[in-house]
Amino acid sequence: MSGFPQAKTDLLPNGQRYSSPYLSDFVGGKVFTVCPKCGLQRRYDAARLLERAGDRCLPDLLNVIAAAEGCPRVGDKDDRCNLHYDIERMHQQPLAQSRNGS
Ligand SMILES: [Zn+2]
Repeated sequence: MSGFPQAKTDLLPNGQRYSSPYLSDFVGGKVFTVCPKCGLQRRYDAARLLERAGDRCLPDLLNVIAAAEGCPRVGDKDDRCNLHYDIERMHQQPLAQSRNGS
């Protein structure tokens, strides 16, 4: 027996919404990215990144970051950039609360 399929996301009336998390979900924290191939490691303030890049879903945003950082393998279909989020670190941090670091 089956009930309603569980929708994971709401569809906005003016467009689609991906089921992926959005950058705005991480405001108040940091966004960590790492590319093992290039050795690229970056940490962004989510709020600042949001201002610069707009509110994008994370997979989308990754391409923007890779291009902005000049990863040499961006767009290379044979040897793709392996840039990805360090999701674990991103979830370990306290979100949506501001802390004054000492
Ligand atoms: Zn790369």
